[in-house]
Amino acid sequence: MNALNIPTITLNDETEIPQLGLGVFKVDPGETERIVSDALEVGYRHIDTAAIYGNEAEVGAAIAKSGIPREEIYVTTKLWNDRQGDAKAALSESLDKLGLDRVDLYLVHWPVPSQDTFVSAWEQVLDLREAGLTTTAGVSNHELEHLERIIEATGEFPAVNQIELHPEHQRQELTAFCRANGIAIEAWGPLAQGKSDLLTLPQIQEIGAAHDKSAAQVVLRWHIENGTIVFPKTTRRERMEENAALFDFELSETEHAVLTALEAGRNYSTNPRDM
Ligand code: NAD
Repeated sequence: MNALNIPTITLNDETEIPQLGLGVFKVDPGETERIVSDALEVGYRHIDTAAIYGNEAEVGAAIAKSGIPREEIYVTTKLWNDRQGDAKAALSESLDKLGLDRVDLYLVHWPVPSQDTFVSAWEQVLDLREAGLTTTAGVSNHELEHLERIIEATGEFPAVNQIELHPEHQRQELTAFCRANGIAIEAWGPLAQGKSDLLTLPQIQEIGAAHDKSAAQVVLRWHIENGTIVFPKTTRRERMEENAALFDFELSETEHAVLTALEAGRNYSTNPRDM
């Protein structure tokens, strides 16, 4: 099985992450093994899952069956909110399900400020990195004030922050802080989770037509050109192929600016501060 030729981003711990992968949020466990197998056959080598998605075992089964050497597949999973006091056991359970002895990236899934245990959760994830159970340590859904607290407490900058990010929700202040501090940005909901009219906007369709690309490819290309890591979710093999065909065209400055101008401060999911 041949890998697609996907660029990598070098993280602040000097490891490399493929800039494109497949996300499996809300992928039914009964379908996950087939979908991840399809993605690996198409040439994806980066899978983003989470304990809460309930499909780690099926992700692991597809990886095992693929016969692809472990070091060629980048696997991310995440620490769920009710396990922030218990990260070591939580990651061990995830590893058992995945059938792996380490993940590439382990993320604190949400800070959950009302619970106020995210600093301790981050400290535990750093310990798990030291123990070799995850190669890289990162966070997800962390706002500025959460990043500042974990950095202040430990002196350690997360390698990534995985946040809701798309043309309608660009998080300028947060992303500027991350970029200035060497924290790579992963966009979840890079296509606005299919909840917006983004892909039917005439200005995006027009850009697509000019490059013989779909609206989804235009939006994903915009993320790639911003240096963001993406793992759009799809269960359909032809869309896996489509979503990976991003490296044979470039947006002009004007085209890029058309997408950037869509900023509306509009998120389609939970605000991390409200949890
Ligand atoms: P997404 O933006 O990837 O959108 C997925 C939707 O877009 C699906 O409905 C799919 O049918 C549609 N789609 C995919 N490719 C398409 C194409 N080529 N043309 C038209 N429509 C297309 O949303 P997502 O799944 O929420 O985000 C991607 C990944 O991010 C998830 O699978 C998960 O791994 C991760 N995620 C993380 C968090 C977090 O809290 N850290 C939250 C949500 C998602």
